[in-house]
Amino acid sequence: MLFKDLSLSAELLRAVEKQGYDKATPIQQKAIPLVLEGSDLLAGAQTGTGKTAGFTLPMLQRLQNKYPGTAKSYPKALVLTPTRELAAQVHESVRDYGAYLPFKSAVIFGGVSINPQKQKLIKGVDVVVATPGRLLDHVQQRSIDLSKIEILVLDEADRMLDMGFIHDIRRVMKVIPKQRQTLLFSATFSNEIKKLASEFLENPQQIQV
Ligand code: AMP
Repeated sequence: MLFKDLSLSAELLRAVEKQGYDKATPIQQKAIPLVLEGSDLLAGAQTGTGKTAGFTLPMLQRLQNKYPGTAKSYPKALVLTPTRELAAQVHESVRDYGAYLPFKSAVIFGGVSINPQKQKLIKGVDVVVATPGRLLDHVQQRSIDLSKIEILVLDEADRMLDMGFIHDIRRVMKVIPKQRQTLLFSATFSNEIKKLASEFLENPQQIQV
């Protein structure tokens, strides 16, 4: 299936084309329509399957549908990742695929100074890609307001649990709206992942590649 058959905007298709892609991978073919219709999603996908575009493209499309003009920037979409490397990678995808859209984004992770991140957040962002610990530092220091998040992505959720982020994830869940769209990506489906999904997803569509 081609990207142009997936109900994506001209701006997103142009960005996809710039990356040199025309065919959607299986996870993209399955995930994109479900996310566009607003469903929660429980997706089994390994790295290398194209999962990042599988959630980034429809996430940006939902934002574009709802905020077609230049709306005020505040965090509307949040992607949580286990590591700073993955956060940086996902953020690069958000920037690449969002190149022709007016949305601003920030990447937040620990191990680097917090002040440049604060400066970035103060200017206003629409999409935040973050590791849980540093994100919570910003929440505590009130440099980010997550109370208007509409779309939450838990990327590599199994790795986040393996790394002991469950408490941090719960803390994040407490400060974002209950009414939101949640997408959970995981390479494996342990009982812990199933429990996480049953707690934080609502009638999720399930896909596996
Ligand atoms: P991911 O699984 O999201 O880490 O993506 C793995 C790699 O596949 C990345 O380098 C992407 O840029 C690339 N990729 C994603 N979607 C496509 C596609 N539809 N066609 C070709 N390559 C892709």
